[in-house]
Amino acid sequence: MNIILLGPPGAGKGTQARFLVEERGMVQLSTGDMLRAAKDSGTEMGKIVADVMARGALVTDDIVIGLIREQIETVKSNGFIFDGFPRTLAQADALNDLLAEEGETLDAVIEMEVDDEALVARITARSTCAGCGEVYNDNTKPVPADGICTNCGESKGFTRRADDNEESLKTRLMEYYKKTSPLIGYYYAKGQLTKVNGLGEMATVKADIATVLD
Ligand code: AMP
Repeated sequence: MNIILLGPPGAGKGTQARFLVEERGMVQLSTGDMLRAAKDSGTEMGKIVADVMARGALVTDDIVIGLIREQIETVKSNGFIFDGFPRTLAQADALNDLLAEEGETLDAVIEMEVDDEALVARITARSTCAGCGEVYNDNTKPVPADGICTNCGESKGFTRRADDNEESLKTRLMEYYKKTSPLIGYYYAKGQLTKVNGLGEMATVKADIATVLD
């Protein structure tokens, strides 16, 4: 089963994708994570995308489609979770073609709905374990005072994403509404869209997603 988690930055796509990986053995394909890894390792592509990402703008379709193509063609999986991809109609069309070439189908598109105020509050308060990627929130789930991650038990530190600031967030939200939100209508028209309330407790959102998939 291959699915897309669709929603604005801060909707909780990454958190829910991690649950699906742990519990269903699916493979998470996050273009944001791939691009951050390229940036951190200083590859040519990483250098090209660094400034675009810091501003909160979208990197070109060619780059992200290339990253996804490589994964779909080489990784064996009993299901991909597309997290943060597609973000434009051109990416959505390319994904259809890539899946068809591999004899795969797209089985569900889950839109995680969250209101804008909640997004800003979530994003500007979030930090992540440098070891395992567990997400913390200053208000609802502060980083442990002893510095030990409650998920992996390591103390590798907690980092804030460079683009999790109000200025970049404005651009990210604008990009979402201009370029990504048309995908809601696109997948609705194809009969593939299901909406889930992304504002609930993590466990409730998780259960709602399970209902869609089972
Ligand atoms: P994310 O981790 O999904 O919030 O992505 C972080 C940043 O990576 C975005 O703000 C974009 O600059 C870039 N990015 C990630 N996925 C895509 C995509 N599918 N298309 C274009 N840019 C992307």
